[in-house]
Amino acid sequence: MASGGGGNSGCGRDPEPDPPTSSMLGIRPAFVEVLEDDGPVVGRYLYTEVVMMWNLTKINKYLSTNEQCVAFAEENELVHSQKQCRTHRVPMKIAKSANKSFGSWCCSKESCKGKTKVPRNKGTFFENIKMDLVHLFYLLYAYSQKWSYYTAIHEDPYKENRQQCISRATINDWYNYCRETIVIYQRDKIQILAKIGGPGKIVQINESRFGKRKYNRGRLIEGNWVIGMIEDKSGDLRLEVCSDNIQSAEVLVPLIQKHVEIGTTIHINFWKVYDCLSQHGYIHKKVNQSDPDHPCVAEDGAYLYESLWRRNNIKYKKDPFMELIIAIKYVYK
Ligand SMILES: [Zn+2]
Repeated sequence: MASGGGGNSGCGRDPEPDPPTSSMLGIRPAFVEVLEDDGPVVGRYLYTEVVMMWNLTKINKYLSTNEQCVAFAEENELVHSQKQCRTHRVPMKIAKSANKSFGSWCCSKESCKGKTKVPRNKGTFFENIKMDLVHLFYLLYAYSQKWSYYTAIHEDPYKENRQQCISRATINDWYNYCRETIVIYQRDKIQILAKIGGPGKIVQINESRFGKRKYNRGRLIEGNWVIGMIEDKSGDLRLEVCSDNIQSAEVLVPLIQKHVEIGTTIHINFWKVYDCLSQHGYIHKKVNQSDPDHPCVAEDGAYLYESLWRRNNIKYKKDPFMELIIAIKYVYK
């Protein structure tokens, strides 16, 4: 699963010196700014909220041993705490095994033991994990905080012990698994919200596709279109997935009508729908995607969902780390 394994490439072999920022997220900087420019959302309870949230000190304290990580995973139902042998209908025991992170389930009946032995992380988010759980939970935290690869490597509390940095390949793999999890979670949880736009407001409409999924759970269709409708200034975002040819008016107009108020100025680059939008009460403006003033393009639709998830965490004052844990629990239940 994690092709980078436990961090095979040391710091010295890592040639890129600069922190990857939004470009690594496949989003042009201005797009990120649009999404993040949400005005002040912090209230007077900020202090309590921040103290309650997971931070690196808390990670180092409560998720710094394999036992702590296993207990945390059990508590949050990321792995099962109990399992019955299908044959004997008796509770199975947990045996330490080569898979040292969670051990394996095995039946307490001697005759059954060998046959039913199954790694405890099979079918979970942690399947085929090739690194220690403490390192993985650290990476989950890093992802939840939107840390760049550079920051994740730099802040890594275990690099001294390992005498090695986590490789970029490993970080990339696990960030991708996290992102895929977030997309599925966010897509299922998305609710019909109030429409965006309105007279005098601009909504940018852009399309991207779901890129190649490394760890396809069968719920994300590679190549499906993701349509992002983003209100200028507020950065309010609406997303739709569709498999059809979205550049046709038949497909696109109903989606716009579902999410965007009549009278909105729409910036869109599809020439085919350009003409018919005015018939539906919108003011259209064709934009060139290479125009630096209209840069709202994500290379992979997954990043749009990630942006929406991050935005909602800030807006609703959620702890990103726990939100990620909740998403993992939901997707791998
Ligand atoms: Zn059995």
